[in-house]
Amino acid sequence: MHTNRKAQFNLLLFLSLLIAILGSCDHQQKKQEKAKNASADDPLEILMHGNSHFAELKPEHPDEDLNRLKEVSKDQHPIAVIVSCSDSRVSPELIFDQGIGDLFVIRTAGNIIGNLELGSIEYAVEHLGVKLIVVLGHESCGAVQAYLKGGDAPGHIRDIVDSLKEESEIQNTALNDQNRLDKCVIANIIHGVNKIENQDGIVHEKILKKELQVIGARYDLENYKVQIVKQ
Ligand SMILES: [Zn+2]
Repeated sequence: MHTNRKAQFNLLLFLSLLIAILGSCDHQQKKQEKAKNASADDPLEILMHGNSHFAELKPEHPDEDLNRLKEVSKDQHPIAVIVSCSDSRVSPELIFDQGIGDLFVIRTAGNIIGNLELGSIEYAVEHLGVKLIVVLGHESCGAVQAYLKGGDAPGHIRDIVDSLKEESEIQNTALNDQNRLDKCVIANIIHGVNKIENQDGIVHEKILKKELQVIGARYDLENYKVQIVKQ
């Protein structure tokens, strides 16, 4: 009798555990499906979702197989323009966990945006129908550090430093700020967003029609996360 009761108790315990596990799997699956659906047509959500995979060291490496290569061999439909720093640790496809044909990437040291970069942005907006532009700066940017160091930069590096020097957003940062480097990194990102938004022509028209969004983001080298700093 005693043994039977114990067996019954164990069976009940097993069943409740099973129900709890199945319930949790179902919940997890629903959560994943929801995340997938929510991001299905919002490029910013797709990027942030991809970055969360990357930051958790669980990248999915989508769109890298033979099918994808064949699919994009005739045509491209990237979901976003990323204007990022050339820094070797800030690779947009990797940190947003995207693949071939997903991102239209423009890179310069310090994510400086001049006329050539604006031309590339306009091409992506007008001809490829991109609806999101991300200006992506990062923690401890070498270009911003070179500007803060002052002095004479050699060769064309001077052009980068001079360009940063002219940014009113950087000029408006407090000189005695303990965290000046990061404040200037963010100011430089905001400058990039403002510069794109204030261009006449196709980009401006699309922004007015709410068909195009420009955002600023900062990548953290320590926690691998992208944080939106201007939206
Ligand atoms: Zn940089």
